[in-house]
Amino acid sequence: MDVEVRDKIFVDGSWIKPSGDQLTDVIDSTTEEVFAKVAKATAADANKAVAAAREAFKSWSQTSPDERGKYLSRINEGISARMSQLSEIISKEVGTPLGLSQFIQVGVPASTFADMANRANEYEFEERIGNSLVVKEPRGVVAAITPWNYPLHQIAAKVAPALLAGCTVVLKPADLAPLNAYLLADVMEEVGLPSGVFNLVTGPGTEIGEALVSNPEVDMISFTGSTSVGSHIAQLAAKDIKRVALELGGKSATVILEDVFNSDETIAKAVSGGLFMCYLNSGQTCIAQTRMLVPKAKLAEIEERVAAETATYTVGSPFDAMTRVGPLVSKKQQESVRDYIRIAKDEGAQLLTGGEETPEGLDKGYFVKPTVFTGVDQNMRIAQEEVFGPVLSIISYENEKEAIEIANNSSYGLSGAVWSSDNDHAVKVAKQIRTGQVEVNGGMFNPTAPFGGYKKSGYGRELGKYGLEDFLEIKSMQLGF
Ligand code: NDP
Repeated sequence: MDVEVRDKIFVDGSWIKPSGDQLTDVIDSTTEEVFAKVAKATAADANKAVAAAREAFKSWSQTSPDERGKYLSRINEGISARMSQLSEIISKEVGTPLGLSQFIQVGVPASTFADMANRANEYEFEERIGNSLVVKEPRGVVAAITPWNYPLHQIAAKVAPALLAGCTVVLKPADLAPLNAYLLADVMEEVGLPSGVFNLVTGPGTEIGEALVSNPEVDMISFTGSTSVGSHIAQLAAKDIKRVALELGGKSATVILEDVFNSDETIAKAVSGGLFMCYLNSGQTCIAQTRMLVPKAKLAEIEERVAAETATYTVGSPFDAMTRVGPLVSKKQQESVRDYIRIAKDEGAQLLTGGEETPEGLDKGYFVKPTVFTGVDQNMRIAQEEVFGPVLSIISYENEKEAIEIANNSSYGLSGAVWSSDNDHAVKVAKQIRTGQVEVNGGMFNPTAPFGGYKKSGYGRELGKYGLEDFLEIKSMQLGF
């Protein structure tokens, strides 16, 4: 097999050799083979990229939103033109089934660039308040530190609004899924983005990430990843009062209300919707709905439906059209998820289906069976911690008040879902859930709606108008004329 080698980083508009000559292996999560190698840069390289971004900020920040929007349009076209290459790469890196890769892993980020391009002429970068002219100005040099689970989406959610705002960017993508970021840098070069406006530096987060966060020339850090690293970054950044946006973990609940059971159709939809949002991307989704809350009297019916539907989630290669659940991203992630399955058993949760054993016939690849626990107590670790694998906990409740309490019994506050046969009732319950997103009766993910967390799921909002505003400072000029 050919191994693709990208041994340079993109700094100040050029592909340059990093200061060391080490490379990082990129592993195919299905075959466990190295399919690419990328540059392992150093802190010195990260600082060089920050200097380039600082210099470029002088002129980029003075361009018009219209001009910046035109670049964003062309970036959207460049990503769309690479749809098949990018989706194949991400399916190898992350394990996402290819069809979903095309739609979610590449289609959504392309549309984020298009959406920001449209906002160039729609958004009011200036407004009058009494005798003041209020102007929205770019925050400055942004360090974007991104994870591996939806790698290009999380990059686009930071880079597109940052560029429209007039910021310049140094991107440090996840080591487990960096190749897609190289293709994005190719697009940036192709569209002729001015030198230093976008820079790509790959290497270990502990070195490159820390260097970016600690560099005094960085004005803002936009981070997506684990709550522990997010907290560490916020503490480092606090020293210099750097702006920080954090999009962290979640432990979202699907709340199935009693009245759903009035109709066979609605209960079927609720179970399907909940399972889809639990197993999506093998559970490696920050908004994964990994807790299903059901009325105690209906527990047996739900268990039967969940077990039957879970059996339809075929596990296999992301390149097989029948596959609904691909491998996890890495050996480490696979081990971590298997450990959680063992922990849940030790804590007394009942295994309904799945388990920690290797799925039949899949000895190679980081596969884990879709696994469901029932009889889960809301305080067990399996009900509290982010597993980041295809593992569902069914938790029963006595009444609606308790359902809402259980949904909110989490240190996280990212997402959730409510199902009811009465739409108004569903909205009323959704308003009582302390999370940044709630899907009501199967409402689809909206890539232009604000996205972010309450509590330990982070702060700041990504996507759409609110996502753009995170990259803007607000200046009031009191006019004496
Ligand atoms: P991390 O939080 O460790 O990694 C996210 C990004 O931060 C990566 O680019 C990483 O670089 C970088 N990074 C790591 N350490 C530092 C540091 N000290 N300073 C600055 N940047 C740093 O997530 P993991 O990939 O290790 O995943 C672990 C768990 O986190 C998952 O099991 C899941 O529970 C959760 N997670 C949540 C996500 C979400 O969307 N909310 C996304 C990904 C993970 P590098 O890749 O080089 O380590």
